Amino acid sequence: MLDSTLQDTYDHVLRRNPGEPEFHQAVREVFESLEVIQNRHPEYQDHSILMRLSEPERQIIFRVPWVDDKGVVQVNRGFRVEYNSALGPYKGGLRFHPSVNLGIVKFLGFEQIFKNSLTGLPIGGGKGGSDFDPRGRSDGEVMRFCQSFMTELHRHMGEYTDVPAGDIGVGAREIGYLFGTYKRLTNRYEAGVLTGKGLDWGGSLVRKEATGYGAAIFAAEMLEARDASFEGRRVGVSGSGNVAIYAIEKARQLGGLPVTASDSSGYVVDEKGIDLELLQQIKEVERGRIAEYAERRGDSARFVAGGSVWDVPMDIALPSATQNELDADSARTLVKNGVLAVSEGANMPCTPDAVTVFREAGIAFGPGKAANAGGVATSALEMQQNASRDAWSFAHTEERLTQIMKNIHATCLETAEEVGRPGDYVVGANVAGFRKVADAMIAFGVI
Ligand code: GLU
Repeated sequence: MLDSTLQDTYDHVLRRNPGEPEFHQAVREVFESLEVIQNRHPEYQDHSILMRLSEPERQIIFRVPWVDDKGVVQVNRGFRVEYNSALGPYKGGLRFHPSVNLGIVKFLGFEQIFKNSLTGLPIGGGKGGSDFDPRGRSDGEVMRFCQSFMTELHRHMGEYTDVPAGDIGVGAREIGYLFGTYKRLTNRYEAGVLTGKGLDWGGSLVRKEATGYGAAIFAAEMLEARDASFEGRRVGVSGSGNVAIYAIEKARQLGGLPVTASDSSGYVVDEKGIDLELLQQIKEVERGRIAEYAERRGDSARFVAGGSVWDVPMDIALPSATQNELDADSARTLVKNGVLAVSEGANMPCTPDAVTVFREAGIAFGPGKAANAGGVATSALEMQQNASRDAWSFAHTEERLTQIMKNIHATCLETAEEVGRPGDYVVGANVAGFRKVADAMIAFGVI
């Protein structure tokens, strides 16, 4: 139960946003965390901060017509939710996946506000995407879709207004088509208007790796706070996209043994440790299925169709696939198998019940808005490089990312302690992320 003021506001959010369960879930988690500071900060209530925060500043929904390879006209739906610009231009990725709808984009945009605030960099929160499914589409089809998508979106973007990037289904290829279209439509080489760009045309080293690296670094920080480390530990990773691949790489660099990867068809377990090159070849180059990994890897690996990757015994879990992929049953299995730390590479991959299981068992749990903030933080570093027409080295950029992740970890821990919930990274992240945004909104007045 929420306290009565928070409950009233939450009920209002439910009434105003029917049929959007993921959005409700994200809002509720933040509201629950804020109970600990309610009484200390009457000004947040006086300024109706929560009511204002739950309502996006602007929501754009548009038609995306395009012609497929057979000459048939297809129609998808495009979204951009410009959620909150208290700390900087709207910033957040674009997701192309059939599950995308307004509720999903709002949940992701809402999370992004606090995540971006936690990075300490000047970026507001937003998110966008489409129900377009790039899987099985030719390059030409993806290009025509991106061109049509940007034909509408470009008028809402700008280096100081809204800066999209990638998310599920949107990588360097899509960002290339989107940037090319923006450039042509506006006649401006405005590099800082999109992040996740290719390295030859304004992209930043480490951006591709940043989300996965950051999630592993956050886990290492949580372990260190408990006098533990990755050294010799079995690491379970779900997903096999951009986040998962680089979480695996960093987990290995930190001395762990990453043993799993998955996609929507099932998962692989590799007792010798995931062969990163093979995984990259199959997923990044060939855009193939995870089952092929086991076929090509030999005896150490097996593919399990369907099933849950969380059944595999592991010491550290890095859920890096998608929202609500790890439920209470899986959480109980992980706890039973002795998991020490869970660091969310994806956005909201653990259900609220799963988080409760981890909390009650005293497992170190890093919520996505803290643990996966490395991606968007490095996007902000890409914007810095674009603004100064500079390009930093890999080592320098990685050092900045590592420092940012350590700062986020320390901020979460200190804030949790300060509000009387020591070791609770969820409360720490939500309170710390929220306070900066709320204080800026108060400073700006009712706008
Ligand atoms: N989609 C990523 C996220 O969930 C990155 C967003 C960005 O770089 O703007 O944070």
